[in-house]
Amino acid sequence: MTNTEIAAVFEQLADLLEFQGANPFRIRAYRTAARTIGNMVEPLAQWLESGRDLRELPGIGDDLAEKIATLVATGTLPLLEELKAEYPPSVLDLLRVQGLGPKRAAVLYRELNVQTLQDLAAACEAHRIRNLKGFGAKTEENIVKGLQAAMEHALRILWYQADQLVSDLRDHLASAPGLKRCEPAGSYRRGKETVGDLDILVTADDPQAVMTHFQHFRGVRRVLAEGTTKAAVELQAGINADLRVVPEESFGAALQYFTGSKEHNVVLRGMAKDRGLKINEYGVYRGEERIAGEDEVGVYAALDLPWILPELRESRWEFDWAAGEGLPDLIRLEDIRGDLHMHTTWTDGMATVEEMVAAAQSRGYAYIAITDHSQRVTVAGGLNAEKVLRQWEAIDRAAANISGLHILKGIEVDILEQGGLDLPDEVLAQADWVVASVHFGQNQSREQITRRIVDALRNPCVSAIAHPTGRLIGERAAYEVDLEIVLETAAECGKAMELNAHPRRLDLNDTACAAAKRLGVPIVISTDAHSIKGLDAMRYGVMQARRGGLTARNVLNTRSWSEFRRFLASRR
Ligand SMILES: [Zn+2]
Ligand SMILES: [Zn+2]
Repeated sequence: MTNTEIAAVFEQLADLLEFQGANPFRIRAYRTAARTIGNMVEPLAQWLESGRDLRELPGIGDDLAEKIATLVATGTLPLLEELKAEYPPSVLDLLRVQGLGPKRAAVLYRELNVQTLQDLAAACEAHRIRNLKGFGAKTEENIVKGLQAAMEHALRILWYQADQLVSDLRDHLASAPGLKRCEPAGSYRRGKETVGDLDILVTADDPQAVMTHFQHFRGVRRVLAEGTTKAAVELQAGINADLRVVPEESFGAALQYFTGSKEHNVVLRGMAKDRGLKINEYGVYRGEERIAGEDEVGVYAALDLPWILPELRESRWEFDWAAGEGLPDLIRLEDIRGDLHMHTTWTDGMATVEEMVAAAQSRGYAYIAITDHSQRVTVAGGLNAEKVLRQWEAIDRAAANISGLHILKGIEVDILEQGGLDLPDEVLAQADWVVASVHFGQNQSREQITRRIVDALRNPCVSAIAHPTGRLIGERAAYEVDLEIVLETAAECGKAMELNAHPRRLDLNDTACAAAKRLGVPIVISTDAHSIKGLDAMRYGVMQARRGGLTARNVLNTRSWSEFRRFLASRR
């Protein structure tokens, strides 16, 4: 079991216990454990193998150490199985609805027999929730909003989770007898922020042997179907995976076909028809003759197209680009020169300034910004004016001993509910880099939130807006904001907009990134890291930027230090 999987089990346990109304301290212990394990770099399974004591970990006592050992050994926990038997499995979906939470979900389950997201939607529609004790019309409205996000996400997992599965699955398949090629296709290959199922394509000498081996992957919950060239399984992670064994000469056509998107493939079929050709998962055909299929480049070439990168295959802009200005040379992870949003132990980060600096150096960055929270974020121990000035002195001292890496004195300043920023201008003016963000008042009207953000952009001290829509994929919908006005203001004021690379945020999303590009607003891809490991999220942000069609030129933190410094000087 990976650390992520172990952490997910503890989260689920905590959710179900909270749903049951168990002791809050016990629930908190499981949640803390989930966070500790999720943030660990070393695999827990290895710890156990090497005989290390799990109780060395913060927040892990006898009970949890024993549960982790059971989990790694058996893949599940008796307590979890008990709880799961007690409630219908669909109640776990309810717990993911922002604005509901386990306690309220339990009330709805008891009082209105709400068991599924569909039940919840029906109860909202009939306005049966607002009359319950402790609820009310406002709560009902918030549940409706949260429900939308949860429904969209149902039965999909985040890209980074799919990525981990794919990597495990590839490792597993690598030892299958007679396996030759192995490529994931589908929405995973296109880098979509969520993935509904996995499609794996292989070529093999002995298809049967590979399919049998595939079914023995330890992440498999049950086998759904098995034919002569295809096997389908349901994974523990909750999604399905299909394995297809395809003929060598059709591999490119199959990869193209199963990568999609559906809309992209519809256009290709039309183009084939216009040329008197036929395209399917086996190849491109003129009459009976196969003229392409072995590789994707050949498939696209047969339709007079350049090879289109999977991230662009959404039938949005790729065909226009191919026919006109050409496909963009998409940004790559190697283009990134710095990370401009991260937290330290000065607020809710897990690593010190020095540790984050060392981690940035080992990633070869030319510059970083330390951007801890401002005072409004009390739960994170946000910094007041005096503390942030002290932190910047400390950063100056740390920077004096460092060469090759420029450390910007920054802050993530809250955009207050009533408008305005959480720290005085004379303090902010002393920063090298200021990201402004909305954490509170997310339920305000579109006009209010848009106004708050626009005013922040107009403040000369502000460099960029962080996680501009506030969404958490599958958990919390974006707040109401007029992005067009925000982007136009950013363009006018010469400010940047953040693409937050955290895999749950990926905020701005791909289409908003494309809009920023059209308006000439530079995007800054930042990790918002709260730990050293958090810095690795950069690649998720880069993937989203690629889906938005961004090149290195469109992204601010690909610039060299001297170019970037010029941008800083031009803020107005
Ligand atoms: Zn934030
Ligand atoms: Zn942050």
